[in-house]
Amino acid sequence: MKDWLSSISSHKRGIWRYESMLPHIRPDKQITMGEGGTALVRSQHIAKELGLSSIYFKLESGNPTGSYKDRISAMGVSWALEQGKNGCIGTSSGNAGASAAAYAARAGLPYHLFVLEDIVEAKLMQAVIHEAEIIRIKGFGESAEIGEQVFAFIEQEAAKRNLEVMITAYQFNAVAMEAVKTIAFELAEDFTATGEPMPDAVFVPVGGGGLYTGIWNGFFELMEKGFIGRMPRMAAVQSDGCSNIVRAWQQGSASPLPGDSTCRISGLQVPNPPDGKEVLRALHAGDGFGIEVKDDEVWMWQEKLATQEGILCEPAAAVSLAGLHQALKEKRLQPGSSAVCILTGAGYKDNDRLRAICRSKPEIPMCEISELSGLA
Ligand SMILES: *Cc1c(COP(=O)(O)O)cnc(C)c1O
Repeated sequence: MKDWLSSISSHKRGIWRYESMLPHIRPDKQITMGEGGTALVRSQHIAKELGLSSIYFKLESGNPTGSYKDRISAMGVSWALEQGKNGCIGTSSGNAGASAAAYAARAGLPYHLFVLEDIVEAKLMQAVIHEAEIIRIKGFGESAEIGEQVFAFIEQEAAKRNLEVMITAYQFNAVAMEAVKTIAFELAEDFTATGEPMPDAVFVPVGGGGLYTGIWNGFFELMEKGFIGRMPRMAAVQSDGCSNIVRAWQQGSASPLPGDSTCRISGLQVPNPPDGKEVLRALHAGDGFGIEVKDDEVWMWQEKLATQEGILCEPAAAVSLAGLHQALKEKRLQPGSSAVCILTGAGYKDNDRLRAICRSKPEIPMCEISELSGLA
């Protein structure tokens, strides 16, 4: 581990701290806003309630546009500049578009963005404000067939117009995705610094599968270089409305199962997961496992994180904690274990959910100043 820590750019923060283990980008082409270097915070209440020795939450909401996608955008947009591309083109269920739009604006590059029919409003507004050129596509996010057609269209336009493909999957942009490894690097560095052993399991929400693949690659690289003794077990957690990777793993299949999505969680509506095969290869090769969770369980854990830990994340992020709970029920995780949940995005990303939670709380009274007479 010592050797590794001497190889990092310790005067830098965020993803560029690990530039020696990332694709080479000349410093004057590095577009950065402080992405990465996110907080790892220990559970105060939920770990005890679930009978675990510890749960740590990795708060990816701390990134500049509120999700871990900023790691990918920083690398992808920098890479586009490094290669002299004319702009960027990509798809998004929300966060990737919000993020790439910000980084493209900063780089002064145009960004063509194709989004889901039912994208959540806050994420779309971020992309609008950063002046991405946006087109919404009917049926995208539900129909696997439409998804494939959109991906094909983008690859064709990218080749024709010399644009960088910003789809957050190894399948489409392996260079940009390398930045996801930094989540594993940060975890290794944080656990080394505190002297605690690496966690028994890391819970990762899975949509297209790029996040899981990137973190797995990061840990694998650290292990191959002898910097960590073993890989943590990595859980791939999907909504049961779009669980084509987890169900494929259960059935021993090497490819995601076909089927449309009925998932209601923004960010995870990916019926044709581009990195599904990569996730399945990792699951079949190691001691990782797949977990399916119900959308209303996810919402329950999202609210519990807010009331018991002070952490307000978006539903797609809470999927990791819902998965941890489910893994305990299925006895895939033993009581007394330690775990990390990757909380991938910020609570303000999904206002409909915030409104729904607030509706279940007591109404806020209003009164004249003269009526105030001490608290109950
Ligand atoms: C994109 C995203 C995911 C899923 O990542 P994949 O790489 O598509 O599996 C999970 N949570 C949030 C908040 C996201 O934005």
